[in-house]
Amino acid sequence: MKIGKHKVVSFNYTLTDNNGEVIDSTEGQKSLAYIHGAGTLKAALENKMTGKQADDAFQVTVQPEDAYGIPDASLIKEVSRDLFGDIEQIEAGMQFQTKSGDVAEMVTVVAVGDKTVTVDCNHPLAGITLNFDIHVVDVRDATPEEMTHGHIHEQGDHQHK
Ligand code: ZN
Repeated sequence: MKIGKHKVVSFNYTLTDNNGEVIDSTEGQKSLAYIHGAGTLKAALENKMTGKQADDAFQVTVQPEDAYGIPDASLIKEVSRDLFGDIEQIEAGMQFQTKSGDVAEMVTVVAVGDKTVTVDCNHPLAGITLNFDIHVVDVRDATPEEMTHGHIHEQGDHQHK
């Protein structure tokens, strides 16, 4: 069965940057499963999955502009140290989850001063070329219920009705 719209696809992957550093991987974990065409994957990746089938192995390179964007210098800001509340040790390289409205984002500490902290609000993967090594494990039809919910159901890990 070939990957196409509304197929449930399970795959293993290793994600590396252009220096060969592993950013993420399913190795030792469950395969990642998604409904093809439901907008779960980045389009640049999903497009390359189309037409593949179980046991296919291939590589996909996703440029930063199709992934997490190009770093924006205006997103590097100086903020009051008070925003970090009780956290005593703040060091360059630390990452914090912030919430503005409903949007959670990850900020990275660039520099620490006496009263202020310089933070980079760009996505940690902004500017990074994503190299995926993909191995398709399984392709099946989505069930009508999965189509209605827009996500996959696997035995034992889906409680809602
Ligand atoms: Zn559901």
